[in-house]
Amino acid sequence: MQIKSAEFVTSAKNVADCPAWDRAEFAFIGRSNVGKSSLINMLSNRHSLAKVSATPGKTRLLNFFLINEKWSLVDLPGYGFARTGKNEKINFNELVGDYLEQRQNLRRVFVLIDSRHPPQRIDVSFATWLGGTGAPFSLIFTKIDKQSAAKTQANIALFQEAIAPELTTTPDTLICSAQTRAGRSEILGMIGHALGG
Ligand code: GDP
Repeated sequence: MQIKSAEFVTSAKNVADCPAWDRAEFAFIGRSNVGKSSLINMLSNRHSLAKVSATPGKTRLLNFFLINEKWSLVDLPGYGFARTGKNEKINFNELVGDYLEQRQNLRRVFVLIDSRHPPQRIDVSFATWLGGTGAPFSLIFTKIDKQSAAKTQANIALFQEAIAPELTTTPDTLICSAQTRAGRSEILGMIGHALGG
């Protein structure tokens, strides 16, 4: 897929605020620092498209971009753990939960995971929660330029092993590097395929 245009459309603070359009939406989510902004810029060929999402007041919102005047890339706020007494509970803002559970336009969620690390509990919890919603999702392992391909593959295998007991299907797995632009055509290809072309 060639990227001909990419523009910021709007930020939504609740599901009712999301654009009233029939565009297919592809959402990107991951822990802070996973490389989400770099990936969004790399995919869209824009140096600072994702900067919009980091501007004051927008970090906790759903940020919608329109690509090729056809489909929407949705930049979602990240997730973390909240401490509730002695327990830890996965915490993503309610808005993210509502969007992922309710939005009809949502075609696929891309969950970004840092390929340098063995499975982190928070990512495993999020992926298994997401699997339970029934939303189609893929995993994108980021920053693969940082280590050997063998190490990346080992971490991917460990992650799949960690989520397998909780899921009925194995999610597609992609890899990327914003540095080398590896993975760009595969990710855009998957989106193009979902769009029917
Ligand atoms: P975000 O918080 O998820 O949006 O993460 P950023 O895109 O801001 O990236 C966090 C840090 O990781 C920055 O210093 C980026 O330059 C770096 N980074 C992101 N993607 C890559 C990558 O593919 N390779 C390398 N080597 N560094 C990356």
